Amino acid sequence: MSAVMPTYARYDVTFERGEGVYIVDTEGRRYLDFGAGIAVNALGHCHPHLVEALKAQAETIWHCSNLYHIPGQERLADRLAANSFADTVFFNNSGGEAVEMACKMARKYHAENGHPERYRVISVEGAFHGRSLAMIAAGRQEKHIKGFGPVTDGFDQVAFGNLNEMRAAITAETAAILVEPVQGEGGIRPMDADYLRALREIADEFGLLLLMDEVQTGVGRTGKLFAHEWSGVTPDVLASAKGLGGGFPIGACLAVQKVSDAMTAGSHGTTFGGNPMASAVGNAVLDVILEDGFLANVGRVSKRLMDGLQKLVADNPAVFSEVRGLGLMIGLKCVNEGANGELVKALIANGLLTVPAGDNIVRLLPPLVIEGSHVDEALSILGKTAKEMTVEGAG
Ligand SMILES: *Cc1c(COP(=O)(O)O)cnc(C)c1O
Repeated sequence: MSAVMPTYARYDVTFERGEGVYIVDTEGRRYLDFGAGIAVNALGHCHPHLVEALKAQAETIWHCSNLYHIPGQERLADRLAANSFADTVFFNNSGGEAVEMACKMARKYHAENGHPERYRVISVEGAFHGRSLAMIAAGRQEKHIKGFGPVTDGFDQVAFGNLNEMRAAITAETAAILVEPVQGEGGIRPMDADYLRALREIADEFGLLLLMDEVQTGVGRTGKLFAHEWSGVTPDVLASAKGLGGGFPIGACLAVQKVSDAMTAGSHGTTFGGNPMASAVGNAVLDVILEDGFLANVGRVSKRLMDGLQKLVADNPAVFSEVRGLGLMIGLKCVNEGANGELVKALIANGLLTVPAGDNIVRLLPPLVIEGSHVDEALSILGKTAKEMTVEGAG
């Protein structure tokens, strides 16, 4: 038995190497990777431009403390700001850290503006914001908080899509509203533009900040650099991670000036965040994602996949009830309770990697570089697997 802690229920497969949108196990079997390490391998495996950037950086300087200037980090911040709502960026190491920082910033913003009593953050049912003590309080999922003691104070939660509940939950202590424009772990639940617009209006009316967790939805996943762009609504603070490093750990917290003005020298920090290696890879990811036509192609390939999945659902009504999502963040809802787990396993056996999510969903999060042929291959494996499930179900 391995000395690794038993926190994960792992699938019985070990991968040895990745080749673009394929991943190869230790027996030499190839799988089409529509999980992409949970939306991390945005450019697939071993993208030549990322490999080159990482190698070049590894031969120059690996780590340099944030006690000193880091040109690659400054360049990455400038580029993220230039291509988004944000004025400034802070680099973290993970998604959870970035979202937690967004919540810290909401408190500091109000404290600096004479309202230290405003510290509470309202999230939405089905949310997932990470696994720190504070972020499991924000996500408030029973399976994540059970056994971890008193739930950290400062977080409230309301029903998804319910504006009356949202308004009613706001008190003189509320600092911010925190949402994922498309809930990921919660089961690919997109928030429509009207809901996001209303949240923005409520935030403005009550002097709250609107925080967006785009850890999963960001960096091109939905066909825009950030998913909120589809709605025309801008946040005050945004957390990014997952795809931002294309497989190298990095997170980022993007903010408008009025919020980041509260983050004075010494108020926050990290040892590793935005180090030269992470920044080099982050910049290389942006080189590709921001290339002319790249995001438009995500939209085109998404349409082909969505059309095929609609047909898959229509052809297999005993297995799938619905397809939903945005861009290349897609969920297939299963009919039989808890069937998503079985389906993910059956798909692995048939050579397609996907990821289960809440609400009985099979998640498709392919690398953003997939082409039409990969879509067709995935649809063919999904169709075949659905037929197998139907036969089993009947027998
Ligand atoms: C994955 C995820 C996180 C947590 O990111 P980690 O890097 O695992 O800490 C937070 N929010 C959302 C929306 C995520 O998908």
